[in-house]
Amino acid sequence: MALDLRPNDFEPFKPARPVAEKQGKAVNPSVVPLVDVKPLPASAKYVVVGAGVHGLSTAWHLAMKLRRSGKGDGSEVVLIDKTGPGAGATGLACGCVRNLYMTSPLHTILRHSVDVWESDPVNLGFQQVGYVSVGEANQEADYLKMAESQNAAGYGSDVYIGQDARRFLKSIWPDYKTERADVVLHEKPSGYAGTHMAVWGLDQKCLQWGVTRCYGPEVTGYEMANGRVTHVKTDQGDIACDCVVISAGAWAPQHWAWLGRPPKLDMAYADGGAVKDQDFWTFWRLIEGEAALPEGKDFRTADGKDSPVLHVELMNAEVRREDGSLLEERPHFYTYVRYAAERVGAPGVQGGSIPIPIGPAAELEPYGHLNDLYQADDWFADYWCATLAMLMERFEGVRAHFIERRNGGIGAFTPDNVPVFDWVADNAYMTADSNHGFKMIGVGKLVAELLEGSTRVEALEPFALKRFSEGWTYGDRNSNCPWV
Ligand SMILES: Cc1cc2nc3c(=O)[nH]c(=O)nc-3n(C[C@H](O)[C@H](O)[C@H](O)COP(=O)(O)OP(=O)(O)OC[C@H]3O[C@@H](n4cnc5c(N)ncnc54)[C@H](O)[C@@H]3O)c2cc1C
Repeated sequence: MALDLRPNDFEPFKPARPVAEKQGKAVNPSVVPLVDVKPLPASAKYVVVGAGVHGLSTAWHLAMKLRRSGKGDGSEVVLIDKTGPGAGATGLACGCVRNLYMTSPLHTILRHSVDVWESDPVNLGFQQVGYVSVGEANQEADYLKMAESQNAAGYGSDVYIGQDARRFLKSIWPDYKTERADVVLHEKPSGYAGTHMAVWGLDQKCLQWGVTRCYGPEVTGYEMANGRVTHVKTDQGDIACDCVVISAGAWAPQHWAWLGRPPKLDMAYADGGAVKDQDFWTFWRLIEGEAALPEGKDFRTADGKDSPVLHVELMNAEVRREDGSLLEERPHFYTYVRYAAERVGAPGVQGGSIPIPIGPAAELEPYGHLNDLYQADDWFADYWCATLAMLMERFEGVRAHFIERRNGGIGAFTPDNVPVFDWVADNAYMTADSNHGFKMIGVGKLVAELLEGSTRVEALEPFALKRFSEGWTYGDRNSNCPWV
């Protein structure tokens, strides 16, 4: 694929942004205009590295908490990004907000996150349309378990089985082809958010609460003394700090190495199993795409509302093209789709399929749509459109409307594919969401609580690093996907 230096631009009401450059090399640009950016100060109480969803949310909540508690204000929080808000995965994610995980502590994280999404759905671009997952009979027990745990966490969801599942689907989408639908989970608080709108809203909130936003300096390492970070080193000088939060997305492995953390580990599981010498980080690439909806077609519900996000994983179903021919490249059926007019610039949908593992190392620059290596493969358009046409009559013929443009990106996954939210030095906290986390906007709120003075924040504790050595590494799943 030839390098087309235009990013996948869909910023509403704006002309295409130029590609950013750093030392003569193309870098993925911020997805929002840079307003009132400050030079890097010599010192700060708190430094937050990375203006993706976690860094922005942490800086905003911390500034708000400091002001409200009278302990300080946003000027003590310095947010650094080498490019600007949304230049990493946050700016190009599909934006689905769901709670479909077997790892039950995540259900609480999502409850906190939806609280944040709900706090300002307009400025954060949140559409609380719900999330509908469809599975085969072999997923029944998992769906029941998830719904129970979600409800216990205050996240209301319903499960429908057999005829009830099929009736439920038809009540939303009368043209749904229900022959492979045995079980349905309906998460009512879930939905999706326009990624650029979310980034704009978060950055504006940081500005409003007086965060010192420094977009441009690239962190090049950490100066340490006695297990503490004393200075964050950047290509525009060093900044002394009391505390640092590292929210570096796919770049987390670099920061991990700069902090002197080991590249491999031994992992122990609750059932006594053990894995030795596991790579701490594994990169995966996420493949996604978009399609326009032609005149006369929509992705609305039977009663005319914006559709819930639809997610279907079927382990035993083949994927066939509309002419009946078999798409042999993929062993099973996995698809998700959401309404995405804000992305397409017209009525349209966006979605994806199972990510593909890369390995413990990956070329990170340029990130995202600018990197030839990580675009959705040629087979993706056929596969995704075929799955949609198999699910609903309205999507028959959608292949002709697939939008051929750059899409996809990479993420850094943890050893058990579950986030690590923990201290990585005495005064350095890392949010490494294992590429789960555009939806996890509430993690920043929880981290801010911890930094502002809470001795413990219960919701974060299940994501501690010590799980690998203490024998509670996660790993319970019935999916071919790395999201557990
Ligand atoms: C194609 C794709 C689709 C996805 N879809 C979804 C979805 O539908 N729903 C969902 O919940 N999640 C989704 N995700 C995952 C989600 O996007 C990420 O988990 C989340 O955005 C990560 O946020 P972050 O703040 O950790 O990192 P990022 O958004 O990557 O931000 C990290 C920031 O750190 C900065 N940075 C890194 N290193 C340095 C340095 N040395 N100096 C200065 N700045 C630095 C970068 O410039 C970047 O802006 C998707 C991911 C991809 C790739």
